[in-house]
Amino acid sequence: MISTAIVVGSGAGGATVARELVRHGVKVKILEAGAPFSPLNRRLLQVYPLARLGFLGTEKTITRFFPHLKTSRLSQDLVMVRGLTTGGSTTISCGNMVRADRGLREIGLDLSAEFKEIENLVGITTIPREKWTPITQQLFDAAFDLNLNPAPTPKALNIEKCISCGLCELGCQEEAKWDARSFLREIVGKGASLHTKNKVKNVIVEGGKVKGVETKTPNGTTKVFGDVVVLAAGGVGTAQILKASGIPTRDGLWIDLVVTLGGISEGAYQLKEAPMAWYAKKENYIISPYPDVLSVWFHKPWRKVPVKNRVGVMVKLADASNGKVLEDGSISKELTSGDIEELEKGLSITQRLMEKAGVGDPFLRGMFNGGHLGGTVPLDPGDVDSMKPQQLPEGLWVADLSLAPSSQGMPTMLLASALALRVARKMLEVC
Ligand SMILES: Cc1cc2nc3c(=O)[nH]c(=O)nc-3n(C[C@H](O)[C@H](O)[C@H](O)COP(=O)(O)OP(=O)(O)OC[C@H]3O[C@@H](n4cnc5c(N)ncnc54)[C@H](O)[C@@H]3O)c2cc1C
Repeated sequence: MISTAIVVGSGAGGATVARELVRHGVKVKILEAGAPFSPLNRRLLQVYPLARLGFLGTEKTITRFFPHLKTSRLSQDLVMVRGLTTGGSTTISCGNMVRADRGLREIGLDLSAEFKEIENLVGITTIPREKWTPITQQLFDAAFDLNLNPAPTPKALNIEKCISCGLCELGCQEEAKWDARSFLREIVGKGASLHTKNKVKNVIVEGGKVKGVETKTPNGTTKVFGDVVVLAAGGVGTAQILKASGIPTRDGLWIDLVVTLGGISEGAYQLKEAPMAWYAKKENYIISPYPDVLSVWFHKPWRKVPVKNRVGVMVKLADASNGKVLEDGSISKELTSGDIEELEKGLSITQRLMEKAGVGDPFLRGMFNGGHLGGTVPLDPGDVDSMKPQQLPEGLWVADLSLAPSSQGMPTMLLASALALRVARKMLEVC
């Protein structure tokens, strides 16, 4: 039986696994690298004219204003985005809650029950059409006419509280959007303790069994021990800890590449609504209206057009599982020719859609970026029953998006959470 558990990371996976363990009487210590979350102070948006003049530099600047959102360049043209804070990347999400299980169903893992349970817990809705901006409505109609089968995006959102500021990725000031902190609030002080600014470096292995972790705190490095350790530090964080512990990972990092095509429509004010009100799903990507705040602020080719006239539609692509987390913790990831080919198809349909909706040119691509990080500790067909990749020693579990072998090209927080719920139940069954 498990009495004490250490959960590393407090995002979609970490908060879910911790909640489930606490509900079954386990004492849980959650170690989180980031600081407690607070949304970006909206007064800082007044510096937008400086961004247009290029005085704010690159996307790295956002992290100085808003340390919870961390950007890093994976290559010259590819930016990785992560939420490093309580609640992890869910705090900077757009609130989309969509079922995605590509690569898992194929190996025999059916997460339907977990998806349903989490959807019921969180409460799923869609944004009513009357709250969409006119341009989003026109884009939807154009997508419909082009037989793209658009549908309102399922959202973990309290519509009454949402003020349509369009800045979900900078944190919700109104607490209208669900994020994993709601699971943490349920359990902290009632079986769980949350320790922020605790960056776990490695796991401690004794006699072939994992006994605890070594963590860097503001007061220095310390060791924390428990019956089991659950890594839920995300596709990159979990792999970094495993690498530092000498435990193998897979060079299968995927990021769900996002590229937003920007066009012009005078006075469209696309920012005056929650992003991604609808989406159209193709085999390897989705298309969805998206103002793309990072590109508006930091992408040089977009600077000439003021934000009130900028219209963006994203292609979110299921990219190849080919990225690596290296021994020193750095990340390498290149787009393949297959990724580029699919992306071009998606962008070409997107441009047709935008033109049909009356959006004008020039059509310019936004920043290439990805923030759905998985595939570094993937489940193989033989792991489906145990929910534990074979290289993990006794006492060590993984409960985040790292477990998903393939990119989704779809929102992923429901998947990360569902995987973590299944892992927690397996732990309670076998430990
Ligand atoms: C800008 C953006 C928007 C998004 N929008 C959506 C959306 O609308 N819908 C959707 O479904 N998905 C969205 N996603 C993706 C989704 O948020 C993630 O896929 C999901 O949160 C992944 O869950 P996770 O538990 O694997 O990682 P995370 O939620 O990222 O949690 C990992 C946690 O581990 C912590 N951590 C990392 N390293 C360490 C360490 N060494 N020690 C201790 N703690 C550590 C991090 O600080 C973080 O709290 C978005 C992502 C981004 C970046």
